[in-house]
Amino acid sequence: MEFIWPEDVDKVQTYISTKEEGDLSFKWGNDEKVVVENRIKCLSGLALNINDLVTCNQPHSNNVIIVGSESVGRGAKQKDWLIGCDGLVTKDKDIILGIETADCIPIFLFDPINKVVGLAHAGWRGVVGNIVSELIDQAIKLGAQVDLIKVAIGPHIQSCCFKVQGNVADEFKKILDGSVSEKEGRLHVDLQKVVFYQLTGVGVSVENISASNECTSCLKDKYYSFRRDKDECAGSMLSVIKLKL
Ligand SMILES: [Zn+2]
Repeated sequence: MEFIWPEDVDKVQTYISTKEEGDLSFKWGNDEKVVVENRIKCLSGLALNINDLVTCNQPHSNNVIIVGSESVGRGAKQKDWLIGCDGLVTKDKDIILGIETADCIPIFLFDPINKVVGLAHAGWRGVVGNIVSELIDQAIKLGAQVDLIKVAIGPHIQSCCFKVQGNVADEFKKILDGSVSEKEGRLHVDLQKVVFYQLTGVGVSVENISASNECTSCLKDKYYSFRRDKDECAGSMLSVIKLKL
């Protein structure tokens, strides 16, 4: 977690769960009561209240929406999550934004001066759809300034393990040629490299972007990984962000 703004710990709270906290998503068919219990345990350990959480259904879109107080609690304790989006932004300091991942990238956004936070879920479709530019656009609508925006890229499936078919590789080559490499006859995509390229392309400065180098697929004991475990995959990590002041 050191890659997420240690300089701003008094202004913003962020967290990424691990396997140790169990499944924190309703999407895997695990008993919903257990998921809620896991969430309560995780959030209360951070001095956060599950009733303030907002999540969305994450259909691998590039839609990012502004969340206000009317949405508080959506998707927190049941599947009444916000529909049709993969990213959330808010200025409301009482709201906890939440995104679930198991290989996809959790992308955190923070403007420390204008007090705007955001969180997005980006799998390969979201990256191809440039969801980070939507995340930045929506944050700007809330008063954020692109030159002040900080972005943190959480643990995800890195290029070591992210093997794709030729048609998917072609989508990435169109965006950034250097994002695809060939190893032992297989095509590997570097999602993080593309996200960096897209973020700097919309004006986020390089020094304001930080990233985890952890690979969810490599770190079997620490993270859930859909690509690694396929049908055996038993859960998702939950990422959260909340303004403190
Ligand atoms: Zn790996």
